[in-house]
Amino acid sequence: MAVDGQKICVLGAGIGGLAAATALAARGAKVTVLEQAEAIAEVGAGLQIGPNGFAVMRALGAGDALAACSVHAQGMQLLNGSNSQPVFGLDFQRFAPGQEYYFVHRADLVDVLADAARAAGVNIRLLQQVQDVTLTNAGAKLHMAHGEVIKPNLLIGADGLHSNVRVALNGVRKPFFTRQVAWRTVIPAVGDEPPVAKVYMGAGRHLVVYPLRGGTMLNIVAVQERDEWAAEGWNFEDDPDNLRNVFADFGDEVQALLARVQKVYLWGLFRHPVAEHWHKGRVAILGDAAHPTLPFMAQGAVMALEDAWVLADALDQADSVESGLAAYQDRRHARASKVIEAASKNARNYHLSPGPVRFAAHTALRLGSTLAPSLAMKKFDWIYGHDVTKG
Ligand SMILES: Cc1cc2nc3c(=O)[nH]c(=O)nc-3n(C[C@H](O)[C@H](O)[C@H](O)COP(=O)(O)OP(=O)(O)OC[C@H]3O[C@@H](n4cnc5c(N)ncnc54)[C@H](O)[C@@H]3O)c2cc1C
Repeated sequence: MAVDGQKICVLGAGIGGLAAATALAARGAKVTVLEQAEAIAEVGAGLQIGPNGFAVMRALGAGDALAACSVHAQGMQLLNGSNSQPVFGLDFQRFAPGQEYYFVHRADLVDVLADAARAAGVNIRLLQQVQDVTLTNAGAKLHMAHGEVIKPNLLIGADGLHSNVRVALNGVRKPFFTRQVAWRTVIPAVGDEPPVAKVYMGAGRHLVVYPLRGGTMLNIVAVQERDEWAAEGWNFEDDPDNLRNVFADFGDEVQALLARVQKVYLWGLFRHPVAEHWHKGRVAILGDAAHPTLPFMAQGAVMALEDAWVLADALDQADSVESGLAAYQDRRHARASKVIEAASKNARNYHLSPGPVRFAAHTALRLGSTLAPSLAMKKFDWIYGHDVTKG
C-alpha cells in the first residue's frame, strides 16, 4: 500500500510530528498536522542531535538547514564537578572524523522541520487542541476543545508525554515522577567556547553545558535527584538562586557559569513505561507519546525522528495500513526500549557519591579514554551508527 494519496492526520507539531508529516507527505500523502499551541514556538533550550538523528534530517531534505543553524560538535567530556578535572573524554574529530553530531537550539530545529513540512505540502493547523480520542472501525474520533469532532481515517499521535492517543490505545496510565528534576537555561557565551559537551558530575547531581548558535550562547541542563515533585504542572520558571544553591559545592568553572544565569525553568522528569500498543486499526503513536525517556543519552528527540522515518517507510512498503503500522512497531520497539534503558543507567553513572564505587568507575573511564579511546567511541556505535534511512 503506497501512502500516495492517503489522507493522514498527525496530532502534534513537535519534533516527531513534523518529521513524520514531512516523511509521509514526501511519499505523496495528504497530511494535516493539528497543534494546540497558537504558534510553533519552543522554550529556549538546546538539544543534541546525534548522527542517527541527523541521518533522518538529511533524508528529509533538512540536513543542510539544520547544520547551518547548529554547532558541529567535536567531542564530549565528563568532569569531576568539584574540581573540573577530566574523568573521560571523546574526541569525535580524532576517532570519528566527519561524525555529524550537532548542538541546536530547540526553536531552530522546530523551525527547520516546519519549513520542510510546509515545503512538502503539509497543512499545519494551529490552535487545535484535542481533548479526547476514541477509536472507531474507520479510524478515530478527535473531540476538539472548540467542540468540533474530527474523524481522520488514519491518525498518527505525536502528542508527547501526556498523549491522548496513547491513552486511547493503552488505557489511562499516569506518567510517574522519576525522582529527578532538570533546570534548563541558555546564557550568553563569553570568549571562544569549544564545540564540546561538558558534563560536570557530583553525588546525586550533574550539569551539562554546550554551545549553541555559532557559539554565541551556552545551553545548560542541570539535573538533581529529588524525592518529590510538588508543582501542579511539569515545568515552571524557577529562582536562579535555587539552581546556584544546589550546585554551590561544584568548582569555579560551574560557579562562573551559574553566576550568569538570569532566567531558568525547572522540569520534573516524568516518564511512563514504553507503551505496549503503538498501533491499533488505523491509529498509531510515536516519539514521547510511545516511549518517553530520561534525557541522559540525549536521544528523546532523536528517537522521535527515527520513529517518524520508519513509520512512513513501513506504511509505504506494506499491503495495508494495519500491517504497515504493525511492521513499524516491530522495527522500533526493541531499539527504543534499549536506548531508554541506557539513558536510565547513565543517570546512575553520573550521580555516584564519592567512595570506592565512584573511584573504580571513574578510574575505569579514565583508563578507557586514555588507553583505548577508539574502543570507548565504539561503545556508542549501536546508538549513533544506526541509520534508519538505510532500510
Ligand atoms: C531537560 C531535557 C533535555 C533534553 N535534551 C534532549 C537532547 O539533547 N536530545 C534529544 O534528542 N532529546 C532531548 N530531550 C527529549 C526531547 O525533548 C523529547 O523526547 C522530544 O521533544 C519528544 O518529541 P515529540 O515530538 O514526541 O513530543 P513533543 O516535543 O512533546 O511534541 C508534542 C506536541 O504535541 C502537541 N500536543 C500535545 N497534546 C496535544 C493536544 N491534546 N492537542 C493538540 N496538540 C497537542 C504539543 O503542543 C507539542 O507541540 C530532552 C528533554 C528534556 C526534558
